Amino acid sequence: DRNHFYRDTWAEINLDKISSNIKSFKKHLPDQKIMAVVKANGYGHGAYQTAVEALESGAELLAVAMLDEALALRKQGISAPILVMNRIRPEYVSLAAENEISITIFQKDWLIEASKFLKETDKVLNIHLKLDTGMGRVGITEEEELHDVSLLIQNSSACEIEGVFTHFATADEWESELFETQRKRFINQLDLLKKWGITPKYVHSANSAAALRKFEGPFNLVRLGISMYGLSPSSEMKEKLPFTLEEAFSLHSQLIHVKKLMPGDTVSYGATYRAKEEEWIGTLPIGYADGWQRRLSPGADVLIRGERAPIIGRICMDQCMVKLPYKMDVGEKATLIGKQNDETIEMDEIASLAKTINYEIPCLISSRVPRVFV
Ligand code: PLP
Repeated sequence: DRNHFYRDTWAEINLDKISSNIKSFKKHLPDQKIMAVVKANGYGHGAYQTAVEALESGAELLAVAMLDEALALRKQGISAPILVMNRIRPEYVSLAAENEISITIFQKDWLIEASKFLKETDKVLNIHLKLDTGMGRVGITEEEELHDVSLLIQNSSACEIEGVFTHFATADEWESELFETQRKRFINQLDLLKKWGITPKYVHSANSAAALRKFEGPFNLVRLGISMYGLSPSSEMKEKLPFTLEEAFSLHSQLIHVKKLMPGDTVSYGATYRAKEEEWIGTLPIGYADGWQRRLSPGADVLIRGERAPIIGRICMDQCMVKLPYKMDVGEKATLIGKQNDETIEMDEIASLAKTINYEIPCLISSRVPRVFV
């Protein structure tokens, strides 16, 4: 709530919208379990709160990128299964096992090294095998290595294969040959595992984009990131979504200063903005150190009283300026992302102005901006 901070800029996270997005996916894919991806502080939305909301709304598992993120959730009292999707250091396997955190493996050498450290605990380590079917990032590609790794795990009482997964590179493109190639490669690898007697509890490949498009295969879990927060994985997909996604994140500030410019007066570093006539200018206490990137001006607007006001001049570290339609009072609310009356600034609008994808925007809104959960 707003009492826990003292500044006039904040992000609002509407947890009901996250709940509604999870429920829509559940309806869309009734046979799949949902793993809520809450890495990077829940894509900037708050890992703990979004995890709790997702779990209450039908998600059964969580995923993060790093062991630190999983341990933080455990410390906050989350008991649901958590998968760490990136490599952890071999020496930390017992720490993962002790905390019932499932980990991802994709290297035989790693497994040999890690088995030394597994002796430190009696707890069984749950492993998800990561297969690279075309993403070219991490994952086992060779049949021989897959075989060796599988055998090593099967013959160990200290660890167990809980899952097997892959990740798509182009699921957010409707017509993608690579997507189909990856899907087929994964199914072939699953057949091999089956031949060697391995049928993991969880078989997963879909990110949000793949989960939205639906596809055939022996999969029973989807890893939902971006769309659980209400954002479309790509502009291409946005036009053909099977259901409405509801954006959970909005960003707000307040005018902390209002002044009148005379013709010829300039605004901010470099004096790049020059008033042509008498104008009213407002100052907002948000800048690039908050993740409101310098390149957003000129270009981005904010909403004040339901109307668009452009950001003018260079965005500073802690502040930026907007051109007001008329004189306003200090304290007037400004919405940088989100809705006021009938006007909306979507995350995608800001992403496009910043020449990036929507994923990056809330991730980059820094920890200096308090998150308010509504
Ligand atoms: N699975 C893996 C391995 C990922 O790295 C990510 C995110 O980057 C996701 C799932 C979730 O993807 P998305 O946010 O597109 O749903």
